[in-house]
Amino acid sequence: MDFELNLEQFGIIWILDFLTVSYIIMLQKTIKPGKNIDVRPPVVVVLGHVDHGKSSLLEAIKDFKITSKESGGITQHIGAYEVEHSTQKITFIDTPGHEAFSAMRSRGAKTADIAILVVDACEGVKPQTKEVITYIKKFKIPAIVALNKMDRPEANPEKIKQELSQQDFLVESIGGKIPSVEISAKTNKGINELLELIILLAEMNETKGDISKPAEGVVIEAYLDKFRGPTSTLLIRDGILNLGDIIATRSTLGKIKTLENFQGNPIKKAIPSMPVIILGLDQVPQVGENFKVFPNIESAQKYVAKKERKTEAQKVLMIESDKRVLNIIIKSDVLGSIEAIEKVLQTLPQEKVILRILKSEPGEINENDVKLAQMAKAKIIGFRTKVNPMASSLAQRQKVKIKTFEVIYELVQTVRELMSKTIKTKLVRKELGKLKTLIVFRTEKSRQIIGGKVTEGEINKGNKIKIWRQEEEIGKGKIIQVQKNKKEVEKGIKGDEIGILQEGPVKIEEGDIVIAYEEERIKEEL
Ligand code: GDP
Repeated sequence: MDFELNLEQFGIIWILDFLTVSYIIMLQKTIKPGKNIDVRPPVVVVLGHVDHGKSSLLEAIKDFKITSKESGGITQHIGAYEVEHSTQKITFIDTPGHEAFSAMRSRGAKTADIAILVVDACEGVKPQTKEVITYIKKFKIPAIVALNKMDRPEANPEKIKQELSQQDFLVESIGGKIPSVEISAKTNKGINELLELIILLAEMNETKGDISKPAEGVVIEAYLDKFRGPTSTLLIRDGILNLGDIIATRSTLGKIKTLENFQGNPIKKAIPSMPVIILGLDQVPQVGENFKVFPNIESAQKYVAKKERKTEAQKVLMIESDKRVLNIIIKSDVLGSIEAIEKVLQTLPQEKVILRILKSEPGEINENDVKLAQMAKAKIIGFRTKVNPMASSLAQRQKVKIKTFEVIYELVQTVRELMSKTIKTKLVRKELGKLKTLIVFRTEKSRQIIGGKVTEGEINKGNKIKIWRQEEEIGKGKIIQVQKNKKEVEKGIKGDEIGILQEGPVKIEEGDIVIAYEEERIKEEL
């Protein structure tokens, strides 16, 4: 049925041009008949708290599905792999540890279609588990909970399900909507079931890729190979990628001179959701960048060049907004805690605020810590430790902030809040409407009454305005009064002819465009 529909759509293109038709015939050869060519395999990411078994699970699936079947298996780590289960393909993003999460979050994009939240069935919900849950909810990514380490006698999946429910993350077996599965990455228990669930979830959420578009997708790994030059792993989202295609990311471009599947075998073309390795880019692209195929080098160059200009603008912005820094001093009961705290703090996003740990050591919070904090404008964070009385009174006098904690999670949340507080607010301008000036009724020193027609949106009393003359902004002002049919009104909307009293240094002339806008200060998220 779906296949017929696609043929019908293609019928229209058929008339349009012969080349497109040959392309479609080629596509039909690549795709198994009877399957909807728009549906692509799901891309899955494995997330969870450190040491809960993410890497072990990725390894287990890889060994289970690939090494046993294909001779040689996978020789190198390329950041993604593909398995086939019940004739269905699944792509796994295989980025080590919590980095996968940070990378995805910083991109803000949904690289993955499905997330597996791995939770150690002995340990339960931990800070990074909570962080992942927040992320999954925010981006509405279909998720599966994998309760891992079920081979261990102390595993208690029911308790973990309760803990998850406290995070508003309710699994199916206790009345929620999120599928869960008990697994062991060590003994391979539940791996089959997990793969089945992924396929089911993918079917329910129909992951799609448009193969009629020029190929595009995302760079998931990139490095400089001593012998092969810039080597990149790409994940295709739409289109068919061919050997010889000209591709560009915002930072680099080139012609694909080698195209390999994830096992390093040469191929000629690749379809959506396939992870591929390519050679031929001029430079190593940045992980997380999008890539696109272009018909020729010139258009690819434009794509890259455009970015260069943008980067310049961004640089200026960066200087203006000045990346913030939060300095902290950490004191704790034992060395082990320090290591654990530092490890978790490293997972906090630092794109907008840099977290600088000036000093971290076991022991009481003392006067030296306060003096250092005062000099460096740092905050003192204590974990299961005391503040000595001298330090306490010095801190009060010098207004140095000291906070102590018994639970790492609370400590991390507080550091996150402190980091958020340092972010500057950003001024966002929203255009509300446009007015074309038809007549100038009266001009005074800093005020004018003009008449015009609202051509877009609305013009409100009190709005700020920008005045444009022949594609150029000539100045700003403010609307004091709006009149319609000689009566004072609050606003004029598209199509209305209105009169406005504006205040500002610019003298509006007939033909000028008046753009009404409002400004709002917003605080960006960390
Ligand atoms: P990650 O930090 O989430 O990637 O966790 P790892 O995959 O590195 O696993 C952390 C530790 O747990 C390692 O010592 C693994 O051998 C162990 N581990 C992972 N999965 C299992 C499991 O299913 N059963 C048992 N007993 N140990 C496991």
